[in-house]
Amino acid sequence: MPVVPESLRDIRAQFPIFARTVHDQPLVYLDTAATSQKPARVIERLRKFYSDEYGTVRRGSYLLCQQSTAMFECARKKAASFVNAERPEEIVFLRGVTEAINLAAVSLARSILKPGDEVLVSAMEHHANIVPWQLVRDMAGIHIRVIPMNDKGELCLDAYEAMLSERVKVVALNHVANSLGTINPIKQITALAHGVGAIVLVDGAQSAPHLKIDVRDLDCDLYAVSGHKMYGPSGAGFLYGRYSLLERMAPYQGGGEMIDRVEFSESTFEDPPYRFEAGTPPIAEVIGLGEAIDFLHDIGLEAIEAWDQALLAYATARLSAIPGLRFVGEAEARSGLVAFTIDGMHPFDVASILDRKGVAVRAGHHCAQPVMRHFDVPATLRASFGVYTVPEDIDTLAAGLELARDMLS
Ligand code: PLP
Repeated sequence: MPVVPESLRDIRAQFPIFARTVHDQPLVYLDTAATSQKPARVIERLRKFYSDEYGTVRRGSYLLCQQSTAMFECARKKAASFVNAERPEEIVFLRGVTEAINLAAVSLARSILKPGDEVLVSAMEHHANIVPWQLVRDMAGIHIRVIPMNDKGELCLDAYEAMLSERVKVVALNHVANSLGTINPIKQITALAHGVGAIVLVDGAQSAPHLKIDVRDLDCDLYAVSGHKMYGPSGAGFLYGRYSLLERMAPYQGGGEMIDRVEFSESTFEDPPYRFEAGTPPIAEVIGLGEAIDFLHDIGLEAIEAWDQALLAYATARLSAIPGLRFVGEAEARSGLVAFTIDGMHPFDVASILDRKGVAVRAGHHCAQPVMRHFDVPATLRASFGVYTVPEDIDTLAAGLELARDMLS
């Protein structure tokens, strides 16, 4: 059993939710890939902002507004440093990854894509990186092509290379697949895409909570991050964009302070990132996300990454011993989760039995129906880890799975 490292030893106590029970059992939370629990300091940051500091941003000359604006822009600096962006203006605050990819698809379709252009997505995408491209397909006259994967859940890089041509204008894929845990070789994929002049958009929903992200090293053009999966409040995330690209991109939504000048005949727009932040933004949530970034920095992303790998190895070994259990997603490079089926047992039935034992896991298609079709399964069970996950959680999961096997077989 791996030993919890010094930097994570008192972490669980910082999450108030673990003080509660579920069905009279201690909570074993193994659904961080869906959304993470929140540390007390993030909860306290929201409380303090709403009770002592609340005001709108960028819309008033009074003190509360100036202070809110300063806190909001400070969160932008933290987000920029979190992904190693060149400047804070490369960060656009949004509700999360779904909104970030919708923004990218609509904006690129309006400003850059031409009929006949191709957008490549991978076979292991979340619906959030498939459907937005389908929604703009007819408007923009583009084609969507799919980079295949093998049965371990790894992208076929030879096939990807063969698909690249001057027609490919966007390559959009996840850094870590939420249904398989695969870590994709983004640096290599980006270098190949740039060879044909394509823009690379990375869905970082599952990578940002576990890996150290460096957009300059990856050299990607757009990188979407979800705050609620990395210990921040729900309702806030961000899109990193290379500034020279953001400058070429049309607005996504209109209204509020995203404008330069408005006439009834036409309007002109602010520079990025404000051009993409129409309406009142999720102010408290963004400030809370800044606190979550500090929380992650204080632990250290290297320590988080190492603990994630230790948990992954332990869970893989522990669950392999369960008769009839098959892993779905066995890539060499993985992060954050194990997904599996058990012969003769429906994932939903197993998840209900686990829930009675206080164990929260996800059962379903994980918003990745094409992945389920690839592996010819209707659904899988997924146990995903966070900074508060301890090896005993995996032992409780394994015991619950044994119990489910006894009850259902
Ligand atoms: N992409 C991936 C890989 C995800 O796992 C998720 C959420 O589960 C999303 C996108 C959607 O993210 P959000 O909830 O921030 O919109």
